[in-house]
Amino acid sequence: MQLYQNQQIKIYNSLSGTKETFKPINDGYVGMYVCGPTVYSNVHLGNVRTFMSFDMVFRYLKHLGYKVRYVRNITDAGHLENDADVGEDKITKKARLEEIEPMEVVQRYTVDFHNVLKTFNFLPPSIEPTATGHIIEQIELIKTIIDNGFAYEVNGSVYFDVHKFDETNEYGKLSKRKLEDLIHNTRELDGQSDKKNPQDFALWKKAEPQHIMRWPSPWSDGFPGWHLECTAMSTKYLGDQFDIHGGGMDLKFPHHECEIAQNEAAIGKSPVNYWMHANMLHLNAQRMAKSTGNTVNPDELLSGNNKFFSKAYAPSVIRFFVAQSSYRSVLDLTDDGLAASEKGYNRLMDGINELESIKTASSSSFNVTEWQQKCYDAMNDDFNSPILIAHLFEAVKYINQLKDGSATITKEDLNLLTTTIHAFTFEVLGLKNDAKEAVGTDKLAGAVDLLIKLRQEARANKDFALSDKIRDELAEVGIQLNDGKDGTTFTTN
Ligand SMILES: [Zn+2]
Repeated sequence: MQLYQNQQIKIYNSLSGTKETFKPINDGYVGMYVCGPTVYSNVHLGNVRTFMSFDMVFRYLKHLGYKVRYVRNITDAGHLENDADVGEDKITKKARLEEIEPMEVVQRYTVDFHNVLKTFNFLPPSIEPTATGHIIEQIELIKTIIDNGFAYEVNGSVYFDVHKFDETNEYGKLSKRKLEDLIHNTRELDGQSDKKNPQDFALWKKAEPQHIMRWPSPWSDGFPGWHLECTAMSTKYLGDQFDIHGGGMDLKFPHHECEIAQNEAAIGKSPVNYWMHANMLHLNAQRMAKSTGNTVNPDELLSGNNKFFSKAYAPSVIRFFVAQSSYRSVLDLTDDGLAASEKGYNRLMDGINELESIKTASSSSFNVTEWQQKCYDAMNDDFNSPILIAHLFEAVKYINQLKDGSATITKEDLNLLTTTIHAFTFEVLGLKNDAKEAVGTDKLAGAVDLLIKLRQEARANKDFALSDKIRDELAEVGIQLNDGKDGTTFTTN
């Protein structure tokens, strides 16, 4: 008997716009695909929030006893600038700027991505396939789509015929867009003149002579379109139809819309039963963007070395903060918000630590069985982690009453309370009792900030020997001072 046989999950399906009862294709098994990162720069905190949401979904499904095959890809080719069909490949561009091989870019940022996820206590996916490892599958898929009459070749490139597809299928059903509206709103971009219509998207692009990442194909030496890899890899590992497809809200259109179109054009079936989209992460009520400087990366948030936050925060505090909002809400990252989450997290951990010293009695003054089901009900309701956390705090309140003698609990109920609160806190929410580690980082940040101030004073007094000494000796112990126009920051290595 598995837990999922008694717990009925409802999932908000972006395709229908309603919460639907979750019924996997194969009883007891779940196939889940989540679009992974394009590994051309350090992972964005907004992406971390998205992957954290799906890590929680993965964890809860596993907790219920489902056998989950979780596939999350690495995009290491084919993703052009501005998510469009023209422009430079994001990875090639980075390689050119840094004068390294594109695959060195891929390696560097894949390692960075894995390090960040490990820091935040993510469970690794079951399979993590790469786009470059599935070029053959993508070429085969294009051949099928051409054979079925939904794609055409021009000058060595292959495009998906959106208008033809829309005659028999419904393009835009996920993002709730109509092709006729898209026609009015699409600008003709340079270099798209090969397309029959501007709405068509590339399945294969002929490589320009300077394009390094290229593979032979029946049409040209080139590279696959960005949307194609996810269709090729999801169906390879999860089948023509699978249960859950997740990703960030920004991928709904065009990326996921194109995935549906490719799948229907190639296989004649809609690929996914439940589409899930995690909402955006804002910083101080504004979109995070490198162009405006309103951005902080995971390392800076964890070290406290940034201009937005008063201190360092532990990975579990950040996880807790993320779980305090529904994955479908916009989440606003603020110093006050994180500080409040840190207090809440500490209160939860203190409560859990108290459990060992609780004395039992012949009766319980709190209905633990009912409380346990409330925790499940919260997660069954579209993974509503903020409600789950409210129930965990209800348990902490009870634990504190037990401690001061104003409540009672039986041995059986204490066991149930302990296993349940452990399961939801550590297994499902993925928290660790590691906030104390951050205190060390925080103290380091405080000490370095003091040295930065002393160095500024030395410079103001024209004591350059002292200011250089502070900089050089910090560098010797692995702390680099970086002078910028907004003041001095530091990085550790
Ligand atoms: Zn994708």
